[in-house]
Amino acid sequence: MSNDEQKSYKVYFGGKWIETGEKIQITDPATGEKFASVSALNRDQVHSAFDAAQAAFPAWRALTAKERGAFLFRVADEVHKRADEIAHLITLENGKPLAQSKGEMAMTEDHLRWFAEEGRRAYGRVIPHQAPGKRNMVVKTPIGVVGAIAPWNFPLVLGIRKAAPALAAGCPVVLKPSSQTPLSSIAFAECVEAAGIPGGVFQLVIGSARMIAEEFLTNPICRKITFTGSTEVGRELIKGAAQAIKPLSLELGGLAPLLVFDDCNLDQAVQETLIAKFRNTGQSCIAANRIYVQRSIHDEFVKRFVAGVQKLKTGPGLEPSVDIGPLINQQGLDAALAQIEEAVGRGGKVLCGGKRKGSTGYFLEPTVIDGVSAASLCMREETFAPVAPITTFETEDEAIELANGSEFGLSAYAMTRDIARIFRLAERIEAGTLGINDGAPTTSNAPFGGVKQSGWGRELGSEGLEAFMETKHVSFGGM
Ligand code: NAP
Repeated sequence: MSNDEQKSYKVYFGGKWIETGEKIQITDPATGEKFASVSALNRDQVHSAFDAAQAAFPAWRALTAKERGAFLFRVADEVHKRADEIAHLITLENGKPLAQSKGEMAMTEDHLRWFAEEGRRAYGRVIPHQAPGKRNMVVKTPIGVVGAIAPWNFPLVLGIRKAAPALAAGCPVVLKPSSQTPLSSIAFAECVEAAGIPGGVFQLVIGSARMIAEEFLTNPICRKITFTGSTEVGRELIKGAAQAIKPLSLELGGLAPLLVFDDCNLDQAVQETLIAKFRNTGQSCIAANRIYVQRSIHDEFVKRFVAGVQKLKTGPGLEPSVDIGPLINQQGLDAALAQIEEAVGRGGKVLCGGKRKGSTGYFLEPTVIDGVSAASLCMREETFAPVAPITTFETEDEAIELANGSEFGLSAYAMTRDIARIFRLAERIEAGTLGINDGAPTTSNAPFGGVKQSGWGRELGSEGLEAFMETKHVSFGGM
């Protein structure tokens, strides 16, 4: 590892780069070694970030949407120029294979370009009036300063999914990346600065999550909190937001079902299931957590799926052609091994993998478990690891019931070529996203979010912009 990668990183806030005495150490999950440190802010500094944001707000909101879009395009250009370098940082801090970090960079850039344009379409409307002499108009205004909290599993893109629409809408953003993976967000802040966005419009706050959340919840300048992370923390934020009635957008945990019907194209179904399960080393909120295969094709699907899994290469994300990187930390590895053991204890059969790989870093062999009982933890709790539990169903109704039989509802998948069935699934599956023969359904131009305990609100698409705007009715009398 080069000296450059062992450096100490500053935090960008108030339009300046700050170094503090308190440091957070960053660990490479491929080695378990600490390779960088980041300055952590205290409560007063987080508080002052909101003052700086509020000071920047009037000028930022006064720009036209086209002018704000031009800034976002310049950030996107900077991100594009530095994509390979920042992708390298993502792999170092998160562990994911470099090709997938590059994919995350491409999506980050696309989110910026999409919202740079979409900001120009924040339409209000004029409503046909009902009272003579009156007129009614609806206008959209920026909600105000936004506090954003992002997780470690997609360290950059999930923060930018919040920051880009908020900035496009005219809102300053205070972003808290995960303490485990702040480096790519720091590099992003450099892109923001290079693009000439005024200080205070975009800031980072890094430090104790609880302390920062407390400031977000209690500071009246913070007009909206947007959070991606666990359902448990989401629940805490809901409680904390009660006092100030602070609006929340919540992107929380998932437990995605993946249904394989007997009319599917089997090779395509196997390929898309591999993507839905193993992308990001299974550490994705939309990862296929529960795989249900129609009984008549179970044996053939499993044979081909296991063959596909056995071809996946596990190793450090910076090594060429790696498909599966390490898990984020020892806790993640232990939780996955515990789920495997528990599923086997309930009658599941490990068809491949099932064990830790090596003793350096946090690698788990990609694992397939067949005949998994519905009572197993991996069918009830988010797995966040490259572990694919499989079981069977007989009929479409049973498949839908199994899919919906969870308190979560972020995403779902179905492999089928029957158009009537696809419409029935689209109407009945309880999830924010349904991937039909599509293991990677997320895209800048379509809404993303969950139902039930997977969260509130939507990101991306035109809904992603709406989340940062107020709707105001203006009534004209004496017309
Ligand atoms: P997490 O523990 O909830 O952490 C997410 C973020 O919240 C991090 O920045 C974390 O900071 C912060 N945080 C921790 N405790 C907090 C508290 N008491 N109050 C406010 N913020 C707090 O989740 P994670 O382990 O990073 O991420 C995995 C989870 O995120 C999974 O459940 C996954 O499904 C979910 N997720 C959902 C989506 C979606 O779009 N629905 C996308 C990706 C991930 P520190 O890192 O500094 O502790």
